[in-house]
Amino acid sequence: MTAWERLEEWRERLEEACASAGREPGSVRLMGACKKVPPERLREFVEAGLTLLGENRVQEARVKVPVLSGGVEWHFIGGLQRNKVKEAVRLFDCIHSIDGVELGEEVSKRAVEAGRVVRVMVEVNVAGEASKHGVPPDVVEPLALALNGMPSLEVVGLMSVPPAVEDPEKARPYFARLRECKKVVESNTGLVLPELSMGMTHDFRQAVAEGATIVRIGTGLFGAREGHGAADA
Ligand SMILES: *Cc1c(COP(=O)(O)O)cnc(C)c1O
Repeated sequence: MTAWERLEEWRERLEEACASAGREPGSVRLMGACKKVPPERLREFVEAGLTLLGENRVQEARVKVPVLSGGVEWHFIGGLQRNKVKEAVRLFDCIHSIDGVELGEEVSKRAVEAGRVVRVMVEVNVAGEASKHGVPPDVVEPLALALNGMPSLEVVGLMSVPPAVEDPEKARPYFARLRECKKVVESNTGLVLPELSMGMTHDFRQAVAEGATIVRIGTGLFGAREGHGAADA
């Protein structure tokens, strides 16, 4: 399948998922989660109309962002080390993976230095998994408030990577938990958090049904990564 056909297929899938959730078509943005996808391959998707790309590693972005920047929005979706923040702020429009006040302060400091505003999301560990990044749901409120008070940051939403489950319906309660968390934080704080970054190739339908505004699609768009089984939707 060509990049154009793949994209078209995903646009239709998202439209269908929106329709069956009773949501506006176009209320969910398709992100290409492009870790390990070489720039030449990515270029085909960008030329076919993909405008939002997510990368997990600053090292990879360093190579890809400069050659694929026209008309493309780059978001950082991986675990962010403090010593990579300065470069991340230069490369990315939005960082989905803020999981502590100190990391937020570092991003803010570097954003101020760079003279730009960086959009950030709080990464939430909805299932309390020891191996995962993200803060527990009850810490989201104080963290979002703290980030909101930092210069050159704009807190725009919540992100989560729930446990990998065979049956995507089993992921749905985690997405619901993230949506609920957003609602509670918004009503307690008055902050507006428009974005819910959740759902991947395997479980995007469930994420859309629970209110995702950005779905992060890797294998379904670009094919299987090295070291992964075929996980096409
Ligand atoms: C790799 C990755 C994705 C995409 O996963 P697929 O199952 O390949 O669609 C989404 N989000 C994050 C944070 C990722 O690391």
